[in-house]
Amino acid sequence: MNIPISSHILITGAGGFIGGWLTKWFVEHGYKHVRAVDIKSKKDWYQVHEDAENLVYDLCRLEACEFVTQDVDYVFNLAADMGGMGFIENNRAACMLSVLINTHLLMAAQREGVKRYFYASSACVYAHDKQTDPNVTALREEDAYPAMAEDGYGWEKLFSERMCRHFSEDFGMEVRVARFHNVYGPLGTYTGGREKAPAAICRKVIEAVISGNHEIEIWGDGEQTRSFMYIDDCVEGILKIFDSNFDQPINLGSAELVSINQLVSLAEKNSGIKLLRTYKKDAPQGVRGRNSNNELIQQVLGWEPSISLQEGLKKTYDWIFVQMKSGSARG
Ligand code: NAD
Repeated sequence: MNIPISSHILITGAGGFIGGWLTKWFVEHGYKHVRAVDIKSKKDWYQVHEDAENLVYDLCRLEACEFVTQDVDYVFNLAADMGGMGFIENNRAACMLSVLINTHLLMAAQREGVKRYFYASSACVYAHDKQTDPNVTALREEDAYPAMAEDGYGWEKLFSERMCRHFSEDFGMEVRVARFHNVYGPLGTYTGGREKAPAAICRKVIEAVISGNHEIEIWGDGEQTRSFMYIDDCVEGILKIFDSNFDQPINLGSAELVSINQLVSLAEKNSGIKLLRTYKKDAPQGVRGRNSNNELIQQVLGWEPSISLQEGLKKTYDWIFVQMKSGSARG
């Protein structure tokens, strides 16, 4: 990692899933000036690292962005109002409003003379018509255009990617943009409506184990496909992309494609039980199939996410199991 240990680092969305793990990485690697910011009250942060400067601000506001970027060298913008398909299909305006966060943060970072800026984009920027078949051709970076992104959330991400690009072109700002594909792991959301498929499936399987009612409801017909990236690969990828000289949007995702039915089978393996599956065909399910083409990241970094879904899901399942057994709920 080429970021000097004395650097001042800003991580936004630090009370969330990925931001929490990224903050942990910097704190544990000896960085003394890590500013962690989130809109949520601190008691609701998924991780609080006392060695960081933990601040609560609404970064939709320009003045808040100006305040938190003071004296900062490097910015990692992970703040967004987001969730799984159930959330983003029903909260399009809220998702679009995250445009204020990235826009104001870029403006503030540019004025402050920040050295490098990372933006967390998403596979939801990809054009809908390239994702209609469960036997997908993995998405290449150029497949975002001609644009027909996921309504709401995906358009906001695509617009914000472009805003980063123009700050780079017009003001010489160093930007890095990664398109995350479904990230999962411990210390994330698993209930409450914002959770994503791996955590939701683990929770449903664990509910069946605990209640003895061996049934599971699956959204859609279960044949929709996705790839899922374990959080450790995500953090490593963010740091490698940030460190690299590559300044265009790049996929950061696993290329291990599975159907939701296969995901359920993997979660069942952890539980030791078999469940009766029912299918809620009218539930939000997003595109039919999506996978990450990793040729570019291989070319640029000589690396790609490699933690298997079986290994990552076991760790996630075990963590959610402990939470549910102890009665804590994380929405
Ligand atoms: P998360 O919801 O756990 O974290 C996002 C955090 O941003 C939350 O804690 C939220 O409170 C905070 N936030 C929202 N609005 C804010 C505001 N106005 N001011 C300050 N903070 C605000 O999500 P995550 O999974 O950690 O995702 C992090 C980033 O990665 C997001 O930009 C997300 O869109 C992107 N992403 C995530 C995934 C994934 O699978 N998790 C996939 C693609 C892209």
